[in-house]
This record gives sequence, structure tokens and C-alpha cells, in this order.
Amino acid sequence: MKKFVYSFNEGNREMKDLLGGKGANLAEMTSIGLPVPQGFTITTEACNEFYKRDKKIWDELEKEIFEFLVKLEDQTGKKFGSDKNPLLVSVRSGAKISMPGMMDTILNLGLNDKVVNTIADVTNNPRFAYDSYRRFIQMFSDVVMEIPKYLFELVLDDIKEQKGYKFDTDLDVEDLKEVVKRYKKIYLDNIKEDFPQDPKEQLIKAVFAVFKSWNNKRAIIYREQNDISHEIGTAVNVQSMVFGNMGDDCGTGVAFTRNPSTGEKEMIGEFLMNAQGEDVVAGIRTPMTIDKLKEENVEAYNQFLDICSTLENHYRDMQDIEFTIENRKLYLLQTRNGKRTAKAAIRIAIDLYEEGLITKDEALMKVEPKQLDQLLHPTFDKEELKNAVVLGRGLAASPGAATGRVCFTAEMAVKKAAEYKDVILVRNETSPEDIEGMTISNGILTSKGGITSHAAVVARGMGKCCVCGCEEIYINEAEKYFKVNGKVYKEGDYISIDGSTGNVYEGVVKTSPEALSDDFYKLMSWADDRRRLMVRTNADTPEDAQNAVKFGAEGIGLCRTEHMFFEESRILAIREMIVSDTKEEREHALSKILPYQKQDFIDIFKVMAQRPVTIRLLDPPLHEFLPSKKEDIEELSKTINVDYNMLMSRIKSLHEFNPMLGHRGCRLAVTYPEIAVMQTTAIIEAALYVKKEEGIDVVPEIMIPLIGDINELRYIENVVKKTADTIIEKSNVELNYKFGTMIEVPRGALTSDEVAESAEFFSFGTNDLTQMTYGFSRDDANKFIQEYKEKKIFEKDPFVSIDEKGVGKLIKIAYELGRKTRPDLKIGICGEHGGDPKSIEFCNKVGLDYVSCSPFRVPIARLAAAQAVIKG
Ligand code: PEP
Ligand code: MG
Repeated sequence: MKKFVYSFNEGNREMKDLLGGKGANLAEMTSIGLPVPQGFTITTEACNEFYKRDKKIWDELEKEIFEFLVKLEDQTGKKFGSDKNPLLVSVRSGAKISMPGMMDTILNLGLNDKVVNTIADVTNNPRFAYDSYRRFIQMFSDVVMEIPKYLFELVLDDIKEQKGYKFDTDLDVEDLKEVVKRYKKIYLDNIKEDFPQDPKEQLIKAVFAVFKSWNNKRAIIYREQNDISHEIGTAVNVQSMVFGNMGDDCGTGVAFTRNPSTGEKEMIGEFLMNAQGEDVVAGIRTPMTIDKLKEENVEAYNQFLDICSTLENHYRDMQDIEFTIENRKLYLLQTRNGKRTAKAAIRIAIDLYEEGLITKDEALMKVEPKQLDQLLHPTFDKEELKNAVVLGRGLAASPGAATGRVCFTAEMAVKKAAEYKDVILVRNETSPEDIEGMTISNGILTSKGGITSHAAVVARGMGKCCVCGCEEIYINEAEKYFKVNGKVYKEGDYISIDGSTGNVYEGVVKTSPEALSDDFYKLMSWADDRRRLMVRTNADTPEDAQNAVKFGAEGIGLCRTEHMFFEESRILAIREMIVSDTKEEREHALSKILPYQKQDFIDIFKVMAQRPVTIRLLDPPLHEFLPSKKEDIEELSKTINVDYNMLMSRIKSLHEFNPMLGHRGCRLAVTYPEIAVMQTTAIIEAALYVKKEEGIDVVPEIMIPLIGDINELRYIENVVKKTADTIIEKSNVELNYKFGTMIEVPRGALTSDEVAESAEFFSFGTNDLTQMTYGFSRDDANKFIQEYKEKKIFEKDPFVSIDEKGVGKLIKIAYELGRKTRPDLKIGICGEHGGDPKSIEFCNKVGLDYVSCSPFRVPIARLAAAQAVIKG
């Protein structure tokens, strides 16, 4: 029969999967001889079995728990429910990865009407006994039976008010007996049963509650935010109680062996005498700093210092330790690797290496790549956040913290920028026309769209904070207000958004600026020494490129040229080109755009110096460039001198039912080769210019999007190469360039042996590849993917982290077929997955040459690429 329960003396720290982090560490501390109150752990497998059995504790498990209870009674010499020497236990959750405060805990379990009196006699402290009992009833009722907490708080407040007390600690035994009586009445009124007096029944109900708390809302959200699997389950630790609240020679506290905010090597902690765990965090009494413990109990303090350094050396990491002192004797209740800020994580990793405790590889593994985001963007002030009012939650689309006044259109954002100073652009969704407004805003909030929506992709590129798909808010762009939870916010009202959590807050929340330290650069250089993958960036402007270079980008993996088309100075010519009837008209309009495009590329080549730059030819459906409002169309008709009706019919003719699968990507260059000619001319002339004038020897890489068939690529290759070669020949300057393609259509991947006959490089466009492999619209999938996750159909959003089984298989096939045809084929990835650590690990395994991601994710990719090598 499978074993579902382990005594603390049966396990060790390697058993985290089974015993959870807390259980494994309690076992480990027991095995190295530290003073740990004894107990047992019910495994994570039991939790998973519990869910398989439709949330039932089955008979065999109950039997096994009771067997271990008897063992615990033998170990402690105490007995559950005894009227002589009663055993009381705590029941705590503990998943493999710690999720502080997300799941449930019950203390003082085993108390009942009889045991409370025994405890009063044994300890000679009836006040303590009744205080423990009332805490237990309250916790059990709240956590296990889900009776609202406030009902119990009202009773305490009522008695305090009647008696004129200020603190809970002012209540005497008789008051507490009255509290217990009234608490039990609340229980009876709500549950229609008496408060359970059988400790075994209490225990099984508590285990049930802890298992159930694995799937409470806050735990689910925490797992999602921290990339923790929903499948691993929590263990339950049943531990004999020691009491910090039995008198003035008792106490309880928590300490970090190093500073969790800065990483400095100094112990940070606090404690309270005559208190139980929750009092330290509840804020009712102000705890004392840990150094004051030496004034209360110098032996316990010195012993604690010794234990802290034993544990830190043992675990070779900063520890977060909970302790209790019962009658002057020190007990350890928990140790775990302490949670820390990104700044502290880096500092601690470097210090532990320099102190000789860990290797460089281990230091690199100690920093969570995604955490680096915290350092690259402003963040909200932690203290301020505690009081901030959350209006809603969307997808954490682009990290950072932003505060500003609401504008509902990009034009308004631009217009009001000077007056408002800080603007948050709030839209149902953004489109390329909004670029200027997005640039000017501190942050972007949308109610629709997913993690690869326009708003998200562009914001990440700019390093601008963005929360998207916040469906709780209803936006009326026309009447300029949004509504959430019955409250209305108008243009000019202040809101704050956190692109790292997806939270939207009311009003102004103060921010702290980005800060890159020497430690950051040091860790990054260690990562660079270790990684195999090159890291490029997706950048469309010299500013983005400059930022990316600052963060360590080794080239541009994707320059989306369409973003350059939207600038005020050129949009008119673009529109003229689109509505042209003949090739000649189109060429005329394109000739107006050419100098701008050339200058764009010159500027980018200059910033990137000799680094490789991949430029993708025009990709989006053309209607995206055209105005949709009547007055804008009228204005366009006047400016380009085309009859309004003719213009309207041309715009209508561009309408498509599925534009994402329509006339876009390479299909544009097939039907309008003159666009490819203009873009190639701009690229080659710019490269020649920087070579001649600046001595920068750039090798531009011209990339064709959305290839599904080799004949599409051959056709465009012919156009591009003829154009490029003619210009180069005429210039009398030697210039190399590369011609390649994106692999983002499944057919392109499956026939990539053919595709590689023409392409000198591949770049996986995994946004489209995911869209077309699953058949999910990347702009709409957010609506149901959240539900897929809740219903455990998907563990992760495939637009965020690569779907290794399906999309990944296509990548592997394309990689192998491509290299078969062309062994030196350069292969990278430039979809959003290029900045996702898990996907980077996959790319490393497959053997790609580089990943390309938005500028602000470059450091994340550098570290993730190093970790991928270390993981092997
Ligand atoms: C992609 O499809 O992955 C890609 C990078 O191109 P875009 O997002 O511009 O379609
Ligand atoms: Mg694409």
C-alpha cells in the first residue's frame, strides 16, 4: 500500500516533491539535531489523491493519519484529548515551493471544553488556556468551516468596549470564558451543530481544509503569477504545539539570516514575548527587533544565532526562520529559503559565491530571470501599495509601475500630455494608429486583448508598463469614461497600473525608479560567460535599439518596419500608396516614403554599429493603415485629391473576414512587389551609406514574413536580390547582405528543407506559429485561455510559453529539415516566446543560434540562456 504519511524523523530535504518545502525542512532540521517540535507530514500525493477522489479524505488515509498520531503521542508522552497531559497540534500547509500566506493554517488543535481546563491546571495559567481555546475556535470556524471572521471580531470588540479595554491582552480569564461561550454559539448558529469536541474529528476536518485551500482563489493567482504548477499539490504538516504565549518567559518570532530587501549580510527579524505566531504579523502589538532578544533571554538569543548560521551553511542560502520560546526553551518551527527582492537575490548570490559557499553556476541559478524586471522598471512603493485600492486585474503584459491621468484616445493623450504631465492611456484595445499616444503615456491599460495583442507587444518593445485584457472594466471611449464595480472614472482622473502583476489601482500610488547596480552587471557578465544562445532584440526604432544595447543585446532579431509607417510624416504617403489604382501611382507614393525609410535604417545601423540587424519587410494587412472614421476619410480624400466615393469603395474592397489569415505578410510583396523594392532599396542604400560615411560594416538581413510555400519565397527573392544587387553594383562598394525568412506558418515549417534552398536564415515567428498551429486567434484567445487554465485544460498560455509538444515539434522539424539543406543556416526565434525563460530553455535544447526579445527582456534572456546551459 502506498505510504501517504511520514514522521519528521523519516524524511530529509531532498523530499520536497513529496513532503513539501516545509515538511522536508522540518525533517532535515530534525535529522541535524535541531530543536524541532515533533510531528508528521501528509504528502502532496495525498493532496492529489484527495482531488482525484472528488475532495474526500478516504478511510485508509484517515487510518494512516491516526497511526502516526499514536506515534506522535509516544514521542511526546502526550495524548490527544487527554485530561492529564493533552497533546495539541498545529496543522499547516506546505507546498514544494513556498506560497507564503496563500493557504491555511490551524493552531491549538486538540482543545475542547475538557482539555482547556487540563491545560489551565497543568500550566497553572487559565488565562493562557482560554485564550488558546478562543483562538482555536475562531481559526477553526474561519478556516475549516468558512464562518465569516468578522462575527468573531465583533464579539471581542463588544467585550472590550463594555469593559473599556484597549488591547486583546487586557481580557482576563472570565472575559475569555465569555468569549468562548459566545464563539461556540456563533458556531452553532452557523453550522447547526455544536463545536466538535473530538480532537480526531477536528484533525480530519483541518486536514480537509488545508487540502482544499490549495485551490482557493489567492493560491491560484499566486501560482499563476509565480509560474508554479497547479498540479503539485500541498502537503499538510501536523506538529505538536509549543507555546509562545504561556507567559513572559515565552515568545515567538521570525528572522531572515540576510536582509531580504537589500541582500546585505545582516540578520533582520522581529519577535514578541508572550505571543503566538499570528500576533507578530497581525500588527496589534508592535514586535521588537531581533537584537533585543538578548535582553530577554541571552541563552536563547545566542543559541538562535548559532542555529541561524548552521542553517545558512547547511542550506547554502539565506534562510527565513520561525521560532518559538516556550518556558525559556528555544524551538524551531520552520526554515526555508527566504523570499527576496531582485536586488537582494543578486547581492546574496554574489556574496554566497564570494564567501565560498556556492559555485558560480549555483549563484546564477539563485536568481529568477523574470525577477530582473523589477530592476529595469520603476516599481510601486511597497508601503504605499498596502493601502492602495485595487480596481481590477488584467494581464501583466509589460512590467513596470505607472501612475497618471486617464485619456481614452491616443490623440487626447498627445493633446493633454503637457497639461496632465502623466497620462495613462485607457483603451478597449490599441491599434497601430495609437503609437504616438502610447509613446507619450506612462502606461497603457486595455480591457481586451491578450499577451500578444498590439498593446502588449508594442508596450514591451518600448519598455512601457501595460496591463491588458482587464475585462472587469467597461470602457466607453466615445463618452470618455470607464466603469468598474459601479464606480465611474472620467478623463483626467488618476489611476495607477502595475504591469508586473496586472493590478489596476485607484488614484496615485508612489513609485521608486529603476536602479542598475554593479552587482547586476557582475551577475550578467557571469551569465554571458556561461550561455550558448546569442541574445538579440526586437526593436523598431533607434531609441529601442539603444536601450536594448544598454541591456546587452547582441543584434536586432526583428525590426518590424510597419511601425515606422505610422509616423505623422509618412502615414499620408502610405495611405496614398494603398489607395492607388495603378502600379505607377503606387510607385510614386512609395518614392515619397523611401527617404524616410532609408533614414530610419541609417539611424538603427548607427546605433547597432557592427551588430547584425534583421529587417522584416511589410507584414500587416493594409487596411490597418487606413482611417475608419468618416471625417478622417473625408480629410484624406481632400489631401490626396481622390474622390470620396472612390476612396470609400477602395477602403471597402480592402475589407477582409479574417485579416490575420488574409492579405498580409509575404502575400503583400507578391501582389505589390514595388513595396519590397522600395524597402530593399532603403535597406541597401542605408547600409551603403553607413559603410561609406561611418565605416560601419553592417550585413543587413532582409527577412520575409509568413512564408508557407517555397515559390512565394523564390518570387520575392528574385525581386529583393535584383534590386539589392543592382544598387550595390552601381555603388562600387562591396556590401554583403543576407536573405531569409520567418517560419511562422505551419506549412512553411513542414517544408523547410525546400524553404532553406532560398533562405539563408530562419527566424521562428512563434506568435503566428502558435496562432496557426492551434487555430487560436492571437487577438481573441485571451477570452477563453484564462478559462482553459482555470479548468486545467492548459497549464500555461501557449502565447506566453511555448507549447513544446505541438508548436515545439514544428520548430524541431523545421530546424532539422532546414539544416539538412543548408548546414550553416542561421536559426533564431523572434516571437514573444524569445523572452520567456521556459521557452528559452527549449530553444537552447533544440540548438537555435539566438533568441530575440523586446529590449527590457534582454537581461532576462541572458540569464535564462545561462540557466538553460547549467540545467543541461
Ligand atoms: C510572430 O508572429 O511571432 C512575429 C514575431 O511576428 P508578428 O508578431 O509581428 O506577427
Ligand atoms: Mg508574425
